[in-house]
Amino acid sequence: MKRLLLLVPHNAASRIRNGGSWGKITYRISDADNVGAIIALSIGNGPVIPTPLEPKNHFLCSGDTCSGQLWYRADPDLHAMWWNARRLNKACQLEAFKNCIAGGWRNPPSTGSYLALTFSPDAPAKFPDVDITEFAAWLVTAEGVTPVAVEVQSSKVGMAQLSATWPTKTMSEISVLVIGLGSIGGAAAHALAEYGVGTLRLLDPDRLLAHNLVRHVGPPEGVGRLKVDVIKQQLAALRADTVVETHPWDVIESAHLVRGLLLSVDLVLCAADGVAARRVVSHLARRAKKDAVLACVLADGSFGEVIRLRPWHDHGCLVCRRATLADKGGIDPEPGLDAGYGTGTTHRPMTAVGGDLHLLGRLAAKTAVATVLERRGHTDQKLPGEHLLLALRPEIGWAPPFDLTRNGETRWLPHTPPRPGCPTCEPA
Ligand SMILES: [Zn+2]
Repeated sequence: MKRLLLLVPHNAASRIRNGGSWGKITYRISDADNVGAIIALSIGNGPVIPTPLEPKNHFLCSGDTCSGQLWYRADPDLHAMWWNARRLNKACQLEAFKNCIAGGWRNPPSTGSYLALTFSPDAPAKFPDVDITEFAAWLVTAEGVTPVAVEVQSSKVGMAQLSATWPTKTMSEISVLVIGLGSIGGAAAHALAEYGVGTLRLLDPDRLLAHNLVRHVGPPEGVGRLKVDVIKQQLAALRADTVVETHPWDVIESAHLVRGLLLSVDLVLCAADGVAARRVVSHLARRAKKDAVLACVLADGSFGEVIRLRPWHDHGCLVCRRATLADKGGIDPEPGLDAGYGTGTTHRPMTAVGGDLHLLGRLAAKTAVATVLERRGHTDQKLPGEHLLLALRPEIGWAPPFDLTRNGETRWLPHTPPRPGCPTCEPA
């Protein structure tokens, strides 16, 4: 059995840091998991005040309660003993432990034990070369004192933890419209939240159905709900930093509403399957002067594709791009995309596997984040091109640029210009 771990909530740690030399603690424990968490404490003989465990549905909130345990302010040498005893998997002598305690000492019962949390604010500075912490925990018995692993919750949680190495503040100001919350779009929404995108606007009229589960990030208990609501609930639990709005609309039928939404976002990521939906997004994004990232799988999961469309005068729209590639001897896979998938009309089962679809969704999210950050001056976010092809299970014999032959092979292509007379690319 793994050694006992004691969780110390942030507010419990700050109350101990704020004063006193000892106090009582109450904790909850799960014997099956061998984990405990402090849920209340006192300063000296004062009242024992709750220090609630977060989140409210934490598994230990239903654990067994153990009151009458103790915390002590302690000498830094005690925490060096704790570190060493853990390393050697040994117990320490009761007398040595007692000599390091500042006050409030209680002898252990003749049989059994109590749990003690010790606080030594000077310990990390006194032993800078080893990882000795300001909090330690122990099981105190008449025979000796055994170290207990301890984890103190940081006051900095969520994306703020990454602020030294990732532009979390800029990301929190960004909003992305995700159109199509199927297997690719669901994974993309998760990834966008993980990158710290502040606001996600999710647009999809479809419900999560049982046959989706083998590929979708949604859980079985969500079957029957709107996909946008399933993703919103997941993100609330996993990425509480992210603001999520839901729009159960069809992008074609509600194009007039999507126009309005586009004004309030930095970028649109489209993972809708239908050819028509992708063309509508290409058109609306260009008219709104917004960047668009389109992701799909081709040839029943043989290839993945991420296209970035910029609203710039020398960059063509989706239709122009396909036509230019076809003129160069390439193929136009767009008509082969299943127009009816998810609409209940011509449901052709896709053969792509969930992992590949999620990989593509994540690549689309990466492309979207890089696009927005580069626009905001992060030159390290520059991408190799505008059109990414990824071989998932390549079919041999496709014309360039789809002539990838090895599983996992990637190819980035440059942009192509608008074509004369294009109703999307020509100024309105
Ligand atoms: Zn065009």
